[in-house]
Amino acid sequence: CGIIGYIGEQPARPRLVAGLEQLEYRGYDSAGIGLVDDDLAVFKQVGLVSGIDIPESTTQTCGIGHTRWSTHGKPTDANAHPHTDCSGRVAVVHNGIIGNYDELRTTLSDHEFTSETDTEVVAHLLEVELERTDDLREAVSAVVARIEGSYALGVVAAGYDGIIAARRNSPLVVGHGSDGNFIASDVTPLLAHTRSVSYLEDGDIAQVTREGVSIWKDGKPIDRERHTIEWSP
Ligand code: GLU
Repeated sequence: CGIIGYIGEQPARPRLVAGLEQLEYRGYDSAGIGLVDDDLAVFKQVGLVSGIDIPESTTQTCGIGHTRWSTHGKPTDANAHPHTDCSGRVAVVHNGIIGNYDELRTTLSDHEFTSETDTEVVAHLLEVELERTDDLREAVSAVVARIEGSYALGVVAAGYDGIIAARRNSPLVVGHGSDGNFIASDVTPLLAHTRSVSYLEDGDIAQVTREGVSIWKDGKPIDRERHTIEWSP
């Protein structure tokens, strides 16, 4: 339902939590965040964003957050996003529906799944790709080529200093900030930090780092216009 991601100079936790609260108007049944540095830490549960138990002391400056409106699998703590792979290295948040998740899941018979969602298959497919390449953007690109349906995806991985975002038939926007960069399902949670945004188009993959944002399509870097949001919420 809602996605937020931040990487920059500031601690990510407060920004992700505030961002998810800004997305509450969309409605949701569960929420969660994933924070990365050399390790991945995931906090998620059924209920309100304010109910997620995240230590105040977290210092990670990169992470993703999600509010879930269940389509596949009941609202349970295990079905809340982010979803992770078996190694606990990759975390994925997703809006939309992966139409062929069942078929993809059968190709991963040696993977142990911990949720009933369509989304979890993406984390496991990424785990397989990351055995082949260390480049998370390349891994996401290979995985989205195999999935059918609709998605806005935010992906982080332990030891990888960035967020990879991808979209098809589900909105996703990138925010260019002064002390960090963002991804979000709409501009509302970004306005407290920046008014400079780029809208991703179908098939785009964004690599969001501390330094900036690069957007790729069909394996090549492309330019997407930067818009300045003039209105206030
Ligand atoms: N299909 C996914 C799920 O049921 C994502 C739902 C959403 O967009 O919140 O977990």
